[in-house]
Amino acid sequence: MTKKLYYENAYQTTFEATVMKSGDDYIVLSETAFYPTGGGQPHDKGTINGQEVTNVEEIDGEIRHYLNDSIPIGTIVEGIIDKDRRFDHMQQHAGQHILTAAFVELYGYETISFHLGTQIVTIDLNVENISPVELERVEKLANQMIQEQREIQTKWITKEEVSQYPLRKDPSVEDHIRLVIIPEFDYNACGGTHPRNTSEVQAISILGTERQKKKTRVEFVCGNRVRKQLHDKTTTVTKLTGLLNAPQGELETAANRLINRNKTLEKELKMLQETVFRFEAMDLLKEITSIGNQRVVQAVLIDKSLQELQTISRFILANNSEVNVLLVSEINGKLQFVCQREQTPINMKNLAQSVLPAINGKGGGNEKQAQGGGEAKTITSDALLTMLLHQLM
Ligand SMILES: [Zn+2]
Repeated sequence: MTKKLYYENAYQTTFEATVMKSGDDYIVLSETAFYPTGGGQPHDKGTINGQEVTNVEEIDGEIRHYLNDSIPIGTIVEGIIDKDRRFDHMQQHAGQHILTAAFVELYGYETISFHLGTQIVTIDLNVENISPVELERVEKLANQMIQEQREIQTKWITKEEVSQYPLRKDPSVEDHIRLVIIPEFDYNACGGTHPRNTSEVQAISILGTERQKKKTRVEFVCGNRVRKQLHDKTTTVTKLTGLLNAPQGELETAANRLINRNKTLEKELKMLQETVFRFEAMDLLKEITSIGNQRVVQAVLIDKSLQELQTISRFILANNSEVNVLLVSEINGKLQFVCQREQTPINMKNLAQSVLPAINGKGGGNEKQAQGGGEAKTITSDALLTMLLHQLM
């Protein structure tokens, strides 16, 4: 069994140990300060004899330090832990204990899971909704616990002693139970690394919540991450105040004004586009082609979407219901076409189907109106229109 130095002193970041086992890509040591992934907390990083430790995991009771090159059994090695990463994890983990306890203390909401991410930390609470007022009060109590500089104790107990402590959950391990205690506030069975005092957590900031079925995920950061968050948010706000030409307090009003103006402009643009399409339809109606006893309005239009072709076609037929409309357009490297009529006896669905193989395309519709689209590689839009016209002969 490896001696777990991280349980004796969470601040120890250098150590010496003997290699007890040497696998293909990992080693097991006589003692280690490297915390293995577990209990929601990621593993430590650092070096062993100068080699980067890529992962640390506890498997079958052994703590495996993964390395690119293995080290022979019996070698005495020097381990160095990435101090900043360890302390960050200590801050986030202790912060999580405090926040979890504050939710229980004020509202009885229980934490069902915890995740310590690279940017933010989350806990899932067994409640569907949490109000902003509740969040604010919880955040305030959590930060008060930090300001009161409460001691954080750790204690090893046996299964029999568990009942002496007001634990939130039954411990997941049977024996050698490790308690993390903030006296008169939080009693927890936990195997993570924590600072000695709540003051070292520095600050807790709730960033937001996300509803997940019957639970709520609370996102937060502690310690140095609060400063980082504030820095990032300040950078964003500064950019926005410049872009919107409004001070921070008026950003919301300025953004709303912009959004509403955008909506109005979109409406106006849509109306103008319709007017243009009406004119295009009127223009096309000036040249009606006769094929046999059928009269046809036909055109190749530039950069029109299928929806736009359909709108123009509708306007044409609204003015003259006795023509057949055949419109083709090439847009973004694809061919699109619409065939439509009101009074004539032409089956537009059959007409559309007959040209689809030529453009390796897909289409649909009914007797009166059909459309399709496909590749522009094999034939041009003019050739496609010619094919459609031929079908009317
Ligand atoms: Zn813990």
